[in-house]
Amino acid sequence: MSHQATVLNKAAHPFNKANLDALLNRRFFYAPAFEIYGGIAGLYDYGPPGSSLQANIIAEWRRHFIVEEHMLEVDTTIMTPAPVFETSGHVARFADWMVKDVKTGEVLRADHLIEGVLEARLKGDQEARGTQQDPSVVEDKDKKKRKKVKSTAIQLDDRIVAEYESVLAQIDNYTGIELGKLIRKYAILNPDTGNEVDDPVQFNLMFDSSIGPTGKQKGYLRPETAQGHFLNFARLLDFNNGRLPFASAQVGRSFRNEISPRAGLIRVREFTMAEIEHFVDPEDKSHVHFSEVKDVKLRLLPKDVQSSGKTDVVEMTVGESVAKGLVDNETLGYFLGRISLFLIKIEIHTSYGWIECVGCADRSAYDLTVHAKKTGAALVARVALPEPVFTEKEVPTFDKKALGKTFQKDSELVRAFVTDLPEEALVKIKNELASASLSSLILTIERRTLKQSSTKFGNSLPTSSEPSFGIGRILYALLEHSYWAREQDIQRGILSLPAVVAPTKVLIVPLSANDLLLPLVQQISAKFRRAGVFARVDDSSASIGKRYSRNDELGTPYGVTIDFATDLGALCFRERDTTDQRIGKIDEVVAVTTDLVKGAIQWAEACQRLPAYDGVQAVD
Ligand code: AMP
Repeated sequence: MSHQATVLNKAAHPFNKANLDALLNRRFFYAPAFEIYGGIAGLYDYGPPGSSLQANIIAEWRRHFIVEEHMLEVDTTIMTPAPVFETSGHVARFADWMVKDVKTGEVLRADHLIEGVLEARLKGDQEARGTQQDPSVVEDKDKKKRKKVKSTAIQLDDRIVAEYESVLAQIDNYTGIELGKLIRKYAILNPDTGNEVDDPVQFNLMFDSSIGPTGKQKGYLRPETAQGHFLNFARLLDFNNGRLPFASAQVGRSFRNEISPRAGLIRVREFTMAEIEHFVDPEDKSHVHFSEVKDVKLRLLPKDVQSSGKTDVVEMTVGESVAKGLVDNETLGYFLGRISLFLIKIEIHTSYGWIECVGCADRSAYDLTVHAKKTGAALVARVALPEPVFTEKEVPTFDKKALGKTFQKDSELVRAFVTDLPEEALVKIKNELASASLSSLILTIERRTLKQSSTKFGNSLPTSSEPSFGIGRILYALLEHSYWAREQDIQRGILSLPAVVAPTKVLIVPLSANDLLLPLVQQISAKFRRAGVFARVDDSSASIGKRYSRNDELGTPYGVTIDFATDLGALCFRERDTTDQRIGKIDEVVAVTTDLVKGAIQWAEACQRLPAYDGVQAVD
């Protein structure tokens, strides 16, 4: 129902980003942080509807992943001592390539510069093939800073178009030197000024700090939550009774000092992530619940298509993609399916183009291996053997006191040396001790039967699959996809947010400010509160229509009008997208709304339970 209304309208009026941005700013979904100080690029504050929307998305995420899959939630610190990120490789490698405008010193991210310019040239070419439009004139977004760039008109023939498309498809994979070559090859200038840019240099994206008053202990604000999972691996494994596989999950803030963020919530310097680390036996990446998602359809861009510079997407089920090897293993396939189900109502293509809202990496055993090596901590897991294995072995035992007295500070070396000796050597020592009738005070060697019930994983540590969600990007994509406007009021938008995430679920609208209606308003508010449905009262003096349309902008899916008929037990109910009006007894309206909000019923069933309102308010 609501979907159809949206589609019809979208066809008539293409998406208008300026109107959406104005709405989001006016109704304080989010706004530039520190605005009265001039703002800082890439930092945003969320207002009341934005905060609720974010909280509701996270709550749904928790239900979908943590609750449903019994994940182990952690909440680890943001401030991280430098050795952690030195070991994980972030200090050396968590960087992007930047270039500087040779005249103004403006800094730009090299890959984004190339991407923006080539896309603009392609767009110009597609729109104006044969019309001699200068293809490198870029859309003038910020009039204050940007001037139109005069450059040699490039006639884009099919070969160049194919070349540009190939570069764009691989833009994430170039080294700094390669990016520099592309900039020269395609005569790419700073679109803001028309000036040349210098060679790309690496810029580490982590914000650094120092811990404590001495300034000697260097720290970083984490750029991902993942390290907190890895460092606590041994505790988590213990919490899970030593069993694999298991998944840990964390929702929290991360910080990246992005080079020149200009894309609203899509690229920010401080953002909320929801990350899962699924630890699994590297030799068995099957997933017990794989069959539950095997029929979910995915649209995939296979590796070989990507590396050939193409963007042809194939559609297939999770099951097929794993069977054909497009997706490496069942665990990865399982998460792709579950993520797709979570985002099912959101197509992630935004007005900023295709953006990554969820990364789903296979980090293998890398992080656990490097941290274990650096710290000596045993970040390993054991797997139970189907049957216990009994082995006979020569076992050296030391008299600690005597050992210490004889070898002093070398005691530990001696103990480790003897313990690691091969079986034959131990037998030899044992025989020598016996034949010389020496009864050593320090060392005895005995043959014992040992029982082994578990074993370490092969040669490697558990590996980790990591679905990593950017909540701000998901929230923004959801807003774009929910936004539309009615024919008769193009300026005032509607956000058709699904009830499960809508900031407010029900608007309570008293017909007038008459004091006699107040007890009814309180009574109905209390009923919604008891049902766990978040309702707000709009008792302003604006007309009912205006109050409803103001709340359509906030994405409030349902409304009830309180008038004098309510006193007789009848309540008028309104649905946001259709503006359909229904009527019912107060308790039934509350019950139907609760069922709708909790997703227990669909609109068709609500219509069966609540008759259409035809202007006659009393119900018997
Ligand atoms: P990554 O660790 O780079 O794979 O990022 C994981 C997820 O975090 C991405 O899929 C995005 O949704 C989100 N993300 C990464 N960088 C940013 C950023 N600068 N602003 C907003 N979201 C981001």
